[in-house]
Amino acid sequence: MTGNGSLFDLSGRVAVVTGGNRGIGRAMAQGLARAGASVAVLARNAEQNQLVLAELKAIGKPALVLPLDVTDRAALATAVAEVERTLGGIDILVNNAGIVALTGGVLNETADIWDKTIETHLNATFLLSQLVAKSMVKRKSGGKIINLASMYSIFGSGLVPSYSAAKGAIVQLTKSLAIELAPHNIQVNAIAPGWIETDMTAAVRSSPMNDEIIARTPAKRWGKADEIIGATVFLSSRGADFVTGATLPVDGGYSVY
Ligand code: NAP
Repeated sequence: MTGNGSLFDLSGRVAVVTGGNRGIGRAMAQGLARAGASVAVLARNAEQNQLVLAELKAIGKPALVLPLDVTDRAALATAVAEVERTLGGIDILVNNAGIVALTGGVLNETADIWDKTIETHLNATFLLSQLVAKSMVKRKSGGKIINLASMYSIFGSGLVPSYSAAKGAIVQLTKSLAIELAPHNIQVNAIAPGWIETDMTAAVRSSPMNDEIIARTPAKRWGKADEIIGATVFLSSRGADFVTGATLPVDGGYSVY
């Protein structure tokens, strides 16, 4: 993956992964570091943060982990400034932090759950993209923004309506950012994972939905968090300089079946 002249070499780049201390974000942070990037992880849990910092340091590239709740709007600018002071100007932003509340549908979902889900996924993606894009434009550096979409960006969900609404909107925000930022050589894309084995989906795997998901996925299995790395490195790299506004499914064929 690395090596001089490789289209996918991220040496010298600075990447930020929100929610990079577990699951898909952790895999993406490690994949970006292995591809040569300096990586900053922004997430809440102090113990998990220390684990991922040790893993990133073992890869051998400069790394930083900051405690951050992406719903704490006042803290976002401080975190971005701290990353830039420590690692350098941000070249790659991965808006990955996420939650899901299995409320069972609109009839059960409280306004508080709705707000928290939209704030964590959609509003944080907007606010962090804005902060980082302003820095990229000011530095005339170009850059990459990668947002996490979902199969629920495409399909509706009777179980997790706020999550589905947030993920649908993230695809549209990705397209809008792509149009606006293209003249600044900033490419904005989304990755739409299919069903991936992480803490977020643990309850689903032990429910009757597990068999339905495997039956409905052409690959006939769940994906692993590591299987999101290839798309992440590609979309972060010079190899994707003419790719913008796209949503790339990594789903074992779920979205085409
Ligand atoms: P996960 O294992 O539950 O990890 C979620 C991550 O987000 C953790 O690192 C968590 O760290 C962080 N996080 C949550 N709320 C946060 C907040 N307010 N501020 C900062 N960090 C926060 O979930 P995952 O499955 O890896 O999901 C990662 C992304 O992929 C999410 O956007 C999710 O919607 C999307 N996705 C997942 C799947 C799947 O099948 N797993 C499918 C499609 C899309 P802390 O708790 O320490 O903050």
